[in-house]
Amino acid sequence: MEIFISEIPEEGLTREGTLPPSIFDLSPNDSIRPTGAVTYKANIFHFDGVLAFDGHLTGEFQLECATCLEYFSYVADYPKWSSDVELEDDQVSFDLAKLIREDFLLDLPPSPRCDELVEGHVCPKAHYVIKIQKPLDEEATHDKSDNAWDVLDDLKD
Ligand SMILES: [Zn+2]
Repeated sequence: MEIFISEIPEEGLTREGTLPPSIFDLSPNDSIRPTGAVTYKANIFHFDGVLAFDGHLTGEFQLECATCLEYFSYVADYPKWSSDVELEDDQVSFDLAKLIREDFLLDLPPSPRCDELVEGHVCPKAHYVIKIQKPLDEEATHDKSDNAWDVLDDLKD
């Protein structure tokens, strides 16, 4: 969605609407899966080679939990979105969709946990890790002594 810088009046320009999830152009295996249209309201200002934006962004995603690797639904809602971009010397236009895409990807939680972001949800893996930590250590010790005996047996032969 190309906007020409010459179109931006001194008092700013407002654009609002929706963008399809395809703007993200991510692999289906990515830890971020956009699941619906992005809604945006952008107030755009231009002064001295800098574009400044504020407004409201919302989007629906499935995020991969960093602990259990299950995807969970997450609504990203940035009611006080703001951003700025320095223009190149010869730049005459910019792509608003691209900027919105980048800001979502920057602002989404970097290593999300399903139990932290979904109210009342227990991350199955987080629970599992705490429960089995002790037995795992004991097992490791057993393995070591078993191996030592195996080595002795081998020597005997
Ligand atoms: Zn989880």
